[in-house]
Amino acid sequence: MVRLLRLFAILIAIALAVAWLADNPGHLTLEWRGYRIESSFALLLLSANFFYALLHAPLWAYGWWRGARGQLARQSSGLEALTRGMTAIAAGNARDAQRFAARAGRLLNGKPLALLMQAQAAEMRGDEAAARGYFQSMLATPETEFLGLRGLLTQAVRQGDTDYAGRLADRAMRLQPKSPWLIHQKFEIECAAGAWPQARETLGRAAQTKQITRPERNRRLALLAYAVAREALEKDGDAEALAQARAALKGAPDLVPAALLVADLLARSGKPDRAARVLEKSWAVSPQPDVAVAYEALVPNETPSRMAVRLRKLIAANPQHVESRLLGAEMALAAGETARARELLTPLAGSAENIHANRRACLMMAQLVRAQGMGEQEVQRWLARASQAAPDPVWQCRACGKQPPDWRITCPSCGEFDSLAWGTRAAHFATASGSKPGLLAQAAPL
Ligand SMILES: [Zn+2]
Repeated sequence: MVRLLRLFAILIAIALAVAWLADNPGHLTLEWRGYRIESSFALLLLSANFFYALLHAPLWAYGWWRGARGQLARQSSGLEALTRGMTAIAAGNARDAQRFAARAGRLLNGKPLALLMQAQAAEMRGDEAAARGYFQSMLATPETEFLGLRGLLTQAVRQGDTDYAGRLADRAMRLQPKSPWLIHQKFEIECAAGAWPQARETLGRAAQTKQITRPERNRRLALLAYAVAREALEKDGDAEALAQARAALKGAPDLVPAALLVADLLARSGKPDRAARVLEKSWAVSPQPDVAVAYEALVPNETPSRMAVRLRKLIAANPQHVESRLLGAEMALAAGETARARELLTPLAGSAENIHANRRACLMMAQLVRAQGMGEQEVQRWLARASQAAPDPVWQCRACGKQPPDWRITCPSCGEFDSLAWGTRAAHFATASGSKPGLLAQAAPL
């Protein structure tokens, strides 16, 4: 705009000067060796300008040619720096990435790819502030706005700033409302912030755009219902909590925390029989020690023999499972039925060479041989085997491998939704993924 105004002003000045010269042409006489030239001053000025332009034209052309060649050479070097920088990022070489990113940034001043690479190189060397600066400058142009938002959003999620992440997700949603990555991120941010109604809405959008299957949607809805149930416990009372927890259990029958909550609420409202049936169903699908503990606690001040009779019903729900055998052995030991206990424990405790022996079975074997008075050496042998046995099952995140003490809807370490699975650590290590790909690797169309 300023340049246009300046050009306009120059044109007006020239027009005024020409008009003034036309009004005041002046008179000029030149005599030289018998020649005589008569002309106006205006014409002389015009001719002088014309000859000046004619003489300088080759110089201007040469200057323009050199400039264009320099520009082309800079662009070509910039593209080469981009390629080498991308290779360095792929190889995880932070120093080279930074060197080539800086070079590409200098040569391709402000080009989107150069900015993206500079941001990625800054993230690689752990300079979050510099990366944020590059992402923010990408917000200025419509072509790179989404890419910049994506970088800032990933940073905000990593730093646990759910408020800012939510605002960035809303802004990005206006640009690309069907982006699968964005819908996934928005859902996780809403879950981390405990915004359950919004999370349900985002889930609906994911299902509409066919990003998740119907069973996936149902499971996620069930998990959200469980989260609402936990919240209702403090705010809306037991009846609402029970309704939501039941909905959760219906959608995800293997969700042990939901079964425990339903059973607890039923027992508290004086319905231990119905609570027992819920726990038996849960034991049939996913037997976990917590379910047995809750089952034992259903009837207070119970004699051991009465409890044993009751626990047989729980075991009968899933009789072949390791947890059922361990529970049976525990009952037999408590009742002094050593032969029965040994019969149940022997296949689990394994032989001396068996590294897959069950830890709790070995510990109970130690208890058993002590009870039978078989000598301290035998007890120590079983305790040693227990220390080498496979670890007990725990909750473990499939995404980051961390083991929180109890189940959560999102992993407390990495924030991944529904990533906590019950199992032994060894089994999890095989499936736990390594580090997540960087932004450059995720931003496909490079
Ligand atoms: Zn995790």
